[in-house]
Amino acid sequence: MTIPRRPLPADARPDTLAVREGLPAGPWGENSEALFLTSCFVHPDAATAARRFANEEDAFVYSRFSNPNVTIMERRLAALEGTSGCIGTSSGMGAILLMVMGLLKAGDHVICSRSVFGSTIKLLQGEFGKFGLETSFVSQTDVAEWKAALKPNTKLLFAETPTNPVTEVCDIQALADLAHEAGALLAVDNCLCSPALQQPVKFGADIVMHSGTKFLDGQGRVNAGALCAPEAMVEEKFVPVMRSAGMSLSPFNAWVVAKGLETLSVRLLAQSARTLALAQWLESHPAVERVYHPGLASHPQHALAMRQQNGHGGAVLAFNVKGSREQAFSVIDATRVCSIAANFGDVRTIITHPASTTHGRLSEAQRQAAGIGQNMIRLGVGLEDVEDLKADLARGLDPLAA
Ligand SMILES: *Cc1c(COP(=O)(O)O)cnc(C)c1O
Repeated sequence: MTIPRRPLPADARPDTLAVREGLPAGPWGENSEALFLTSCFVHPDAATAARRFANEEDAFVYSRFSNPNVTIMERRLAALEGTSGCIGTSSGMGAILLMVMGLLKAGDHVICSRSVFGSTIKLLQGEFGKFGLETSFVSQTDVAEWKAALKPNTKLLFAETPTNPVTEVCDIQALADLAHEAGALLAVDNCLCSPALQQPVKFGADIVMHSGTKFLDGQGRVNAGALCAPEAMVEEKFVPVMRSAGMSLSPFNAWVVAKGLETLSVRLLAQSARTLALAQWLESHPAVERVYHPGLASHPQHALAMRQQNGHGGAVLAFNVKGSREQAFSVIDATRVCSIAANFGDVRTIITHPASTTHGRLSEAQRQAAGIGQNMIRLGVGLEDVEDLKADLARGLDPLAA
């Protein structure tokens, strides 16, 4: 893209880029980014319009595929992920849709962990299965299973780390090496960590996928998504599909996410610290059977997680109450501070029963394979005082221990 950038020192660091990267200010010199709610852009003459539509000259043309607010968000996110390119999408699922449409065709093979986000499994297996894409689902943590699943037509390995909700961590570098030896690409869903904690390209990933709906917005306002990748891949593989298929990020939502990125790092560090405190407290509660959080020493991939995630566990945890669905529901229903909802990445703590909501469309066998029991509760920890959150959970947990 030859559209000018904000003039920043070439060595500006991530915290600076998070609040400064984007487009130059408009003619009025606004300090906070303006909103460009316009579906199309005006050209000085017909010949210029023709050049711009033919991609011979970079300019904003039509908001299905180019808009200043979307560009600001894309540049800021790319700067944080450490990729040369980024493309915004209408949602996280829209990002996976765009990735598969842009990179794969009928007869290609994908390897994916069986513990990824429920809708990701549905999209790859169900929707794309109808069009002749083949997907093998393998263990999140056993690299040998990924290796054994490789075929001559394997084009993409898709990983999510940590997974939602069980926070299993996979070895990004090992999967990247495997993919590259086989001539395939590695895509990583970085929703649970965000680039504030983990940059998958540092460990060899080729594409980083995001749901902007989660930590990037950070205040639970909009749906958004993105793919971060080398600029050439974005231009050659993704932009043409976006132009034809239109899973576009709305300018308003892009603006919200771009503002959210400004506080991403401070929010994530604060929320991650609260989550660890809560995880440790839950681990000691007699009504709790097991706690899942990569920051806990008891987490099976604790050491790997600390290496990949800059020493932070992240702001999502899950726990199993002793009992079944009835006991889990009673803990959820006793809360007065937490929001009973199905999201995370918000400054407000959200409590979820994955088996009946986010992962409700999976079969019981698929849920078992992903380790999601009826007694599991997920918390997307926000910025409330952690003592208030402990008290909120104790309201339901204490009676179960009695
Ligand atoms: C939420 C989520 C998605 C999907 O994002 P949407 O913006 O809701 O479409 C994908 N992967 C993970 C890990 C998620 O948590």
